[in-house]
Order: sequence, then structure tokens, then C-alpha cells
Amino acid sequence: MDQITHWIDGQTQRGHHGEWLAVFNPSTGRQIAQLANGGDAEVGMAVAAAERAQPDWAAHSASHRAAVLNRIADAMTEDAEQLAEIESRNVGKPIDLCRQIEIPRAIQNLRFFAAAALQFSSESHHGEAGLNYTLRQPAGVVGCITPWNLPLYLFTWKIAPALAAGNAVIGKPSEITPLSAQRLAELSATAGLAPGLLNVVHGDGGSAGAALVAHPKVRAISFTGSTRAGRQIGARCGEQLKKASLELGGKNASIVFADAELDDHALADRLLRAGLQNSGQICLCGSRILIEASRYPGLRDALLQRIAEWSVGDPSLAGTRLGPLVSESHRNKVLKGIELAREQGGRILCGGGPAPHLNGDLTGWFVAPTLIEYLPESADLHREELFGPVITLQAFSDADDALRLANATAYGLAASVWTSRLDTAHQMAARLNTGIVWINGWMLRDLRTPFGGMNDSGVGREGGWEAMRFFTEARNICISI
Ligand code: NAD
Repeated sequence: MDQITHWIDGQTQRGHHGEWLAVFNPSTGRQIAQLANGGDAEVGMAVAAAERAQPDWAAHSASHRAAVLNRIADAMTEDAEQLAEIESRNVGKPIDLCRQIEIPRAIQNLRFFAAAALQFSSESHHGEAGLNYTLRQPAGVVGCITPWNLPLYLFTWKIAPALAAGNAVIGKPSEITPLSAQRLAELSATAGLAPGLLNVVHGDGGSAGAALVAHPKVRAISFTGSTRAGRQIGARCGEQLKKASLELGGKNASIVFADAELDDHALADRLLRAGLQNSGQICLCGSRILIEASRYPGLRDALLQRIAEWSVGDPSLAGTRLGPLVSESHRNKVLKGIELAREQGGRILCGGGPAPHLNGDLTGWFVAPTLIEYLPESADLHREELFGPVITLQAFSDADDALRLANATAYGLAASVWTSRLDTAHQMAARLNTGIVWINGWMLRDLRTPFGGMNDSGVGREGGWEAMRFFTEARNICISI
């Protein structure tokens, strides 16, 4: 059985903790690796290595840093098939999704922030107080804590801007899906990233994660994960006056007006992709479909027909669209959420339990894609994130009614609006309580734009300059002339 140990100062380190966590293949339910569970001692070693390495890295030119990041991207490109297989095996994510989206996007994160390093510079203003210039200097040693649902994609989304801005990083990937971050650390070393600049301390949130957040020399924490953990991390960072960026959960609505241009079947395909991609385990998934009443019956029937295309199967095979959920406890939580919806009056249109008809070896944590209608407005599933292949349908009467329903959750991450009217689109976009609104699409991303949510979906924004600013301190210098 593989043993995954920490990556500190450019090499694997067993650490002092002595405890091992189990890592699984969610398709088979079998353990595939043992993971070292780090804590204060391992974070201390990583911080010491990071502090040694960071000043030289910051002193290098931006073009040197960009070149190293691009070399890491090259190494990932060469290793792309292996990275895709690692991710598929550890997350249960369909291999097509890993090959076509997850790994290319992780590589793009490195290249995007390599380019950003070259363009992000100090600003100067000549004004009333004199000649001002503002230096953007690296925060120093920073921590990046990531979840299991998009492991490499989110890990690179954080470490790339942190390194581009001249910091040394301590990453803490999810203890459920640690394999791809470990592989990335090895690739970074072969690509020439100096020891100590990217360290990976493995372990669970209460041990390795908490130790990273608590370490006084770690000057910023970039966190993506649950709202529950985000609250704890925000509070700990607040006590220490440490910067925190918190990207948390979502309960996103796809809002369909009767005048949406696409026919019911084409629309159903897009809405199902928004709701079911990665088995609904994406913070941006549109798990609530709100449909203007006159279009409800036709679109509901189309959704029910088209969902048959989303069969559950072996994620390692090309062509599989839905794999298992990531863990047994998460699968149980999703099944419980479906049961609660049934008890609260929901009508299960399809799915509603474990996936049937899976062959011999696939005894893992599969759930059938599920559509639910007629749930009362107050039902938990309309407000709480379930993070599974479960979509609710609701009818609305007009734009105000749609807004009322869409905004009736404490989350505020993303929404999509489907309409052929420009005025409806812009009015909705301005009034939805979310950080991201897509019009006639889903998951459209330009890496230069701000990414993040409001209310229970988080604090701060990532992407483009937002990320570069987060990982730097501004120092203003004003010269009397
Ligand atoms: P989680 O909060 O349980 O864990 C996320 C990471 O934080 C893991 O590495 C974990 O070990 C660590 N952690 C947990 N508690 C901690 C603590 N007290 N101190 C320090 N570290 C701690 O989340 P998860 O179950 O891995 O991921 C799913 C969640 O992530 C969902 O809620 C999803 O919506 C959210 N998510 C949000 C975004 C976004 O961009 N807004 C993107 C992806 C996932």
C-alpha cells in the first residue's frame, strides 16, 4: 500500500506525528493509500523551510518566477495522463472530465499566473501630496487549504498566484484526495522550483489544517471548503489579524424564463450539466432549477427524458458521465438529504437512492441522479448545500417571484439566468445576491475576473489581480517634490 508523506523543503518527510489516515478509491470503496497526518511539528518544519527559501524567490525578477511557473506547467503537460488517472481514481471523477477540464485547467492556472507575474507591478501617482508610488510586496509565507471536489484545479488556483507574487507556500490539500497535490510537488521540484517554496503538509483539518492556520509566521490563509470550516478559520485568522480569503459553499439557482431561446431539450441538457457535473460536487452546481410557470410542464418532461443520458458508471472508462460520490460518509449524507426531502413533501421524479445495476467491482459510493419537485419552499433542500447529484424544480410566476425564491438561502455564490430579453437578464443580474451571475450559460470563466461569493459563500475574491493583491502587501511611498 502506498504511503503518502509530507513534502517539505523539496523532499518527502515522514514527520513526527506517527498517525496514518486511510485514502480510498470511491468507486470500489477500497483503501488505496495511507496518508501521514501532520500537525504543529510538520507545519513548523515547513514554515522554517519556507522562510529560508522565500527571500531569494522574492528577490528574483518576475520573469524568472514566470519562467519557473511555466516550466512546472510544461512538466504537468507531459504528465497530464498520469495526473488525470490519479485524480479519477482518488476522487471518482469521470476520466473524460479529468482529461478535458480538470487537468488542462490546472495547467492553465500555472500559465495564467506566470503571465500575471509579469504584468502585476507597482503603481505610481503624481498628485497633490507629491509623487506617490506603491510597492506590491509578497506577504511572505502563506497557507493554501483546499477541498476534495476539484483537488488539483483548486490547489493550483491558489499556489500559482501565491508563488507568482513572490511568496513561499505551505499547501494543505484535502486528506480525502491528497494524491494529485503530492504529484504536483514532485513535478515542481523536477521543473526547478527551489526547495522550500512549495511545501505540502498532509493531514486532516483539525490537525494539519488547524496548525497551519494557527502558525504565527504564516501571514495569509487562502481557504476553499465548507462554510462550517470557513467560519472557524476566519475566526482564528481574525484573532491573529491574519489575512484570510474564504471561498465556501453554494446553493445556486438556474432561473429559466419562458422566453429562454433554446428549446426544452437543449435547455434541459445545459441545466443538467450545471446540476450534475462531477456528481453535483462543485460549489457552482445549479442544484435548484426555477422555471417560469408556463414553461414548467414541458421543461420538466424534457429534464426527465434527458437525465437518462446521465448514467452512473466506472469513472475510469471514457464515456462515463457520472462517477461515485467521494466518500462513504458523504454518500450517506446525500442519501439522508434525499430522504428528508421525501419526508418534507418532495416528489422524487427519478433516482432517489443508490445507483442500481453496477457491476462486480463497483461497490463504492454511487448515487443515482435525482430530480425532485413539489418541495415546500421552506424545505431544507432549497436552502442547504447537499453537494450531490440532486436537483430540485420549482415554478415561479414572474421576475420578482424568481428573485424571492433564488435569494431565499444564506448562500450567495452563483446563479444562472436563461432568457432572451436583455432587460430581464440585466435586472436579474443586479438583484441576485450572488458573486457570480451567468446569462444563458453556466461555468463560463475568464481567469482575469473576480471569483467568489457573498454571505455564507465566503469573504474575498480570487482570480486575476484579486488573487495577486491578496498574496501581497501594499507599501505606499510618497515623495515631497
Ligand atoms: P471542508 O471544509 O471539510 O475541508 C476543506 C479543507 O479544509 C480540507 O483540506 C480540510 O482538511 C480543511 N479543514 C477542515 N476544517 C479545518 C479547520 N478547522 N482548520 C483548517 N483546515 C480545515 O470542505 P470539503 O468537504 O473538503 O469540500 C466541500 C466544500 O467546499 C463544499 O461546501 C463546497 O461548496 C466548498 N467549495 C467551495 C468552492 C468555492 O470556490 N466557493 C469551491 C469548491 C468547493
